[in-house]
Amino acid sequence: MIDVRDRADILRWLREKDSARLQKLWAAADQVRRENVGDEVHLRGLIEISNYCCRQCGYCGIRAGNHGLERYRMTAGEILQCARQAVRYKYGTVVMQAGEDYGIETEWLAGIVRQIKRETPLAVTLSLGERPDKDLETWKQAGADRYLLRFETSDQELYELIHPKFAGGFKNRLAVLDVLRNLGYEVGSGVMVGIPGQTYDTLAGDIETFRALDLDMIGVGPYISHPATPLGSGEWTRRVPPAGQVQNTELMTYKTVALARLVCPQANIPSTTALATINKANGRELGLARGANVVMPNLTPVKYRALYEIYPAKACIDETSGQCRTCLYARIQSLGRTVGKGQGGRRR
Ligand code: SAH
Repeated sequence: MIDVRDRADILRWLREKDSARLQKLWAAADQVRRENVGDEVHLRGLIEISNYCCRQCGYCGIRAGNHGLERYRMTAGEILQCARQAVRYKYGTVVMQAGEDYGIETEWLAGIVRQIKRETPLAVTLSLGERPDKDLETWKQAGADRYLLRFETSDQELYELIHPKFAGGFKNRLAVLDVLRNLGYEVGSGVMVGIPGQTYDTLAGDIETFRALDLDMIGVGPYISHPATPLGSGEWTRRVPPAGQVQNTELMTYKTVALARLVCPQANIPSTTALATINKANGRELGLARGANVVMPNLTPVKYRALYEIYPAKACIDETSGQCRTCLYARIQSLGRTVGKGQGGRRR
């Protein structure tokens, strides 16, 4: 069995090129996954409820500064229809994600959460950015179960470069994770792999941070360049020696997923859409075989989907088409895994 005790161990794996040795990493992650969270693959229905955003994240296509993008916010009725669809598909969870949109009013969303919890057996996950403590508390009281907020990078200098100051910077994001934990949410976080300016040391630090935060959920995917952003256009850069720059490849993403599994054995870890985007043929399966145990099929109404363009050419499992749905089940079963039943929360 592989021991990942400190940063040096993590760094060695991140730099490993030998495919026979990497097989050992994949096998270890798969075994730790099986022993801790079992063979079920939990499906979380993703509802992208709004693409309005007040932030200026340098990598993200729905940033406020992207004036070329038509904006939408789903109605309560549309969101509830998606939640009912999730029930028909036998998912255990819906994830409501959006830009940081204060047009999503606190009480309005609380009402939707209450209705979903009253009407359905679903777990409710929110991913709405750095909202004030009061909002997070109101939504928890309304019945929300989990919250996803990636810290994006543990390197404060890189963080500040790619997130123009808004409400307190890097420390604020970590503080929000703390608030979420104290409110009783299951807490998810994560990073992008291969952000320009991300070094091996940074990524190793990110993985150590997963462990330090004892995350319930960890989302990692490759950084995908979006031309309508300052990072994508090259306007903002932090130059690092080429040998130090982490590449935004599939392989680096699998390494990060596998190491995340080893440092947080019980976490729920999705095989992300960004990973499926850079390898549409079998990225999702390889993620599941190398530590992941969750997939997030997209339930957003088709008319909005193209507008939630955080990066270009986003892959999606289009669960509104029956064909895609059958195919997803077949793919999971072909890995010798089963489709999860129930909410699939953090096991302890
Ligand atoms: N507003 C919410 C949701 C953001 S979108 C929040 O701030 O948490 C969800 C995730 O998509 C982000 O946390 C980020 O890690 C990822 N993402 C954004 N732009 C991306 C890009 N260009 N490539 C890959 N992932 C990206």
